[in-house]
Amino acid sequence: MIIVMQTGATEAQINGVVGEIHKAGLREHLSRGAELTIIGAIGDEDKLDAAHLEILPGVARVNRITKPYKIVSRDTHPDGSIIRVRGIPIGGEQIQVIGGPCSVETEEQMELAAQGVADAGCRLMRGGAFKPRTSPYAFQGLGVQGLEYFQHAARKHNFPIVTELMDVRMLDTFMEYDVDVIQIGARNMQNFDLLKEVGRVNKPIILKRGLSATISEWLMSAEYIAAGGNHNIIFCERGIRTFETAYRNVLDVTAIPVLKRETHLPVIVDPSHAGGKAWMVPALAQAAVAAGADGLLIEMHPNPCEAWCDADQALTPEELKKLMKTLGAIAQAVGRSL
Ligand code: PEP
Ligand code: MN
Repeated sequence: MIIVMQTGATEAQINGVVGEIHKAGLREHLSRGAELTIIGAIGDEDKLDAAHLEILPGVARVNRITKPYKIVSRDTHPDGSIIRVRGIPIGGEQIQVIGGPCSVETEEQMELAAQGVADAGCRLMRGGAFKPRTSPYAFQGLGVQGLEYFQHAARKHNFPIVTELMDVRMLDTFMEYDVDVIQIGARNMQNFDLLKEVGRVNKPIILKRGLSATISEWLMSAEYIAAGGNHNIIFCERGIRTFETAYRNVLDVTAIPVLKRETHLPVIVDPSHAGGKAWMVPALAQAAVAAGADGLLIEMHPNPCEAWCDADQALTPEELKKLMKTLGAIAQAVGRSL
C-alpha cells in the first residue's frame, strides 16, 4: 500500500502513519521528496485498512497495490479456467451457446423449446422457473413445477440446465432437482447473503452483471462466491443501464476484453436482455463472439408471440438455428470453434 502525505505534513504525522503500519505487522519504506513524503507499507496489505489510514492527520491519499479480489483475479491464476458442466467445457477453445425460453411455461412449450435448442446445435439449455419481474402482478414463474417440466424436457436431449435462483431458501430444492448451473440474476448481483450461500455448493454459477454495476463491483461479487469455496463462476454481461432509451440496455462489449484480462474465469454474453428486441440479438451475439466471449445465453421460444415473459426479445427456433451458423464462422476467425 502507498500512503501519500499532504504537502507540509509534519514529522509527528508521518510517525503516526508509520505507527499504524507497524501495528498491522508491516514494515515501512519512506521516500522523502522536496515537497511530498510517500510511505510504502511492505507486507500483507489486507491487514491495513485504507479508509482508516486516509483519515489520519497529514494523509493526502492511500492507494492499494494488489487487487482486492484475489481468487478470481488473473494475477493468481494466469491461465484461463475451464469450467465443466456435465463434461461440457466453458472457457476453453470452444464457444458454448445456452439457448431456451425466458421462462418455463408449460410441459409442451418446454418440449418444443428443447427440440429447438437441439436442432440449432446448442449444448446447454436455459429457462426460468423463478422470475424476477418488475411488477408484482406479472407472471412470477411456475416455481418448483417449472423445475420439473424443465428437467423432464432437457433430460431427453441430455442438456444440462441453467436456471435462476432468487431466494436462498430455494437452494436445497435446486440441489434436489439437480440444477446443473445456478444463475444469479442481474438484480441479485449484490445480494451478498445469496452469493455466500452459492459459494458453499459445488455447482457452477452464472453471475450476471448488475443493472448499473461497475466491473470492480462485479468482480468483488464473484469473489464473495469464490471465498466460500466455489470457484466455478461464469461471468455474464447482459447489458447495462445508461442514458439511452432506444433499446433495453447497452451491451457493454468493452467489458469482455477487460474481464478476460482481470479474471481467469469464463465470460459469456446475454444479447437478449441487452437489446431487448429479437432483431438485435444476431448482431449483438456476433459482436460478443468477435470480442472474445466464451459463450452466449440466448432466449428462444417455440412461439415468441405467445411467450409469457420477454416475448419481444425471443428468437424463433429457426432464427436461433440460422444465428448459430453465422457464429461458427466468426468463432473460427478469432481462433475458436462452436
Ligand atoms: C434472465 O436471464 O431471464 C434474466 C431475468 O436476466 P437478468 O437477470 O439479466 O435481467
Ligand atoms: Mn428474460
